[in-house]
Amino acid sequence: MEQINLHQELKKYFGFNEFKGLQEQVIKSIISNKDTFVIMPTGGGKSLCYQLPALIKEGTAIVVSPLIALMKNQVDAIRNISEHHGVAHVLNSSLNKTQVKQVKEDISSGITKLVYVAPESLTKTEYIEFLKGENISFLAIDEAHCISEWGHDFRPEYRNLKNIIERIGENIPIIGLTATATPKVQEDILKNLRIPNSKTFKDSFNRPNLYYEIRPKTDDVDSDIIKFVKKNSGKSGIIYCLSRKRVEQLSQALQVNGVKAVPYHAGLDAKSRSRHQDMFLMEDIDVVVATIAFGMGIDKPDVRFVVHNDIPKSIESYYQETGRAGRDGGEGHCVAYYNHKDIEKLEKFMSGKPIAEQEIGHALLQDVVAFAESSISRRKYILHYFGEEFDNETGDGGDMDDNIRYPKKKKEAKDDVDLILKTVIETGQLFKSKEIVHTLCGSINVLIKSNKTENLKIFKAGKDKPASYWTALLRQVIISGFLKKELESYGVVKLQPKGEEFLKNNTSFMMTEDNDFTNLSTINTSS
Ligand code: ADP
Repeated sequence: MEQINLHQELKKYFGFNEFKGLQEQVIKSIISNKDTFVIMPTGGGKSLCYQLPALIKEGTAIVVSPLIALMKNQVDAIRNISEHHGVAHVLNSSLNKTQVKQVKEDISSGITKLVYVAPESLTKTEYIEFLKGENISFLAIDEAHCISEWGHDFRPEYRNLKNIIERIGENIPIIGLTATATPKVQEDILKNLRIPNSKTFKDSFNRPNLYYEIRPKTDDVDSDIIKFVKKNSGKSGIIYCLSRKRVEQLSQALQVNGVKAVPYHAGLDAKSRSRHQDMFLMEDIDVVVATIAFGMGIDKPDVRFVVHNDIPKSIESYYQETGRAGRDGGEGHCVAYYNHKDIEKLEKFMSGKPIAEQEIGHALLQDVVAFAESSISRRKYILHYFGEEFDNETGDGGDMDDNIRYPKKKKEAKDDVDLILKTVIETGQLFKSKEIVHTLCGSINVLIKSNKTENLKIFKAGKDKPASYWTALLRQVIISGFLKKELESYGVVKLQPKGEEFLKNNTSFMMTEDNDFTNLSTINTSS
């Protein structure tokens, strides 16, 4: 292929002067027919990563996308930048016979550069047989985390895409794209698509302009939220609640207090929902009180705060939802109210679901608990969760969270860290956090009994300190990379090279005490 001037093509099709983040490298990888895996936070500019190569390359790119509404937006946007109406098409159940015929003709004649399909449409024999005879440039899988049960939006039909593309043609390059950064989801995607040698491009998930804060959720949560919103009067904000009832109640409480707020949840009719959304976008109101139904695809750049009346069910959801603040790079204050009672409520929602799903849900929730109660930098915790190391001293936004601004006292804990690491080793690296703490404190459960752990010398070696102390320290040791929680075994803790190093040199480990939420355990939460 002759040398392509990518900047020129970018300007020609999209009118942009520069690539964002890793876009250019990704596009080069796709153009040279490599399997490619793209992990970028929402708003990072993923669509352009496959749209530009599709426009440049010969043939038609198949784009798999889970939402028909999103597909339509994308197709309209592409058509706006091209003189050919047929340059992008949707192929799905909404088309009639004549329309399908037109799409097929445009693909065969080489006009169509991108065809968007829903995964369930792509399984249709009729489409597979047709596409087999066509020149397909590559397969792009948008929202690729739908492949993984560990993602937040698992779709079984996504798991079949590899088989389908193999039926359509040999050696068609695959491009997976997602904003889900957890290592477990990434591994699932690569495995399922069978592209172990793909080139992976991952942008940082750090959002330096967001300030993260967790507040204890007491009976005063209403007045606390009202006070917070009034202090931010005139600014745009979103308040997330778990239940529709709470959404209605809180938006009324805000209205009564003179705040321009509206509710948003799936129980409202479509007309009210879109009216409330428009009012927010047009700044006729300041605050939307909403369930998580609100926000997908909302691109308001100047949301100045996101409040969580209830803690979300995973760090991933917390990151996505808080991520709607400060898109323009300006201030974005993220406050979440936390109470252990709410965790129990979320646990209860899960009961009745299939066991594997419950186990996953439980493991994700445990990370939320650890995040909320921990006194480690929030940013460091989130980025660690997404597989990124973050140094608060040198990293962007290093002082932008409550735990860093208002630090707890630190104390030397090297001997206790030593004890934790030895406990992990001597118990055969078979235990999750809970059993490690049990072993240290000398309490027995079924697993400890069946492993005969109580016969070990190390059993009870930490009994002079409470379980809560060991839980907190163990978390900090994991965040420091000395130990790792393996997700495929739902959280079994294994020793890492950094931990081995520590055991050899045993220098120093400064621990911070956890935030104390125990005094809240008796209150009633009103959501
Ligand atoms: P994602 O799918 O990663 O959430 P999008 O593809 O929707 O992100 O892009 C987010 C926004 O960034 C869009 O408004 C898009 O037009 C814009 N954008 C993408 N690439 C560039 C670029 N190179 N220069 C300027 N704006 C860009």
